[in-house]
Amino acid sequence: MTPEEAREKFGQRVQRCSGCFVAFHVKDLWIDEEGNYFCDNCHTESNIHFNQYSEDVDFSQFFS
Ligand SMILES: [Zn+2]
Repeated sequence: MTPEEAREKFGQRVQRCSGCFVAFHVKDLWIDEEGNYFCDNCHTESNIHFNQYSEDVDFSQFFS
């Protein structure tokens, strides 16, 4: 699996927002320093969107 494929697959995971507890795909969520996920409605300015976050992470280790 390439890093791109791993990122795509990880982005399809379902995660609950830590603010409103609604489930979303990880690719649509924001992430804070502690690894909590937040949706479009609940994220703050300090949270990082998955698209940006994933640029620095090799997700292939999650699927090895
Ligand atoms: Zn939310």
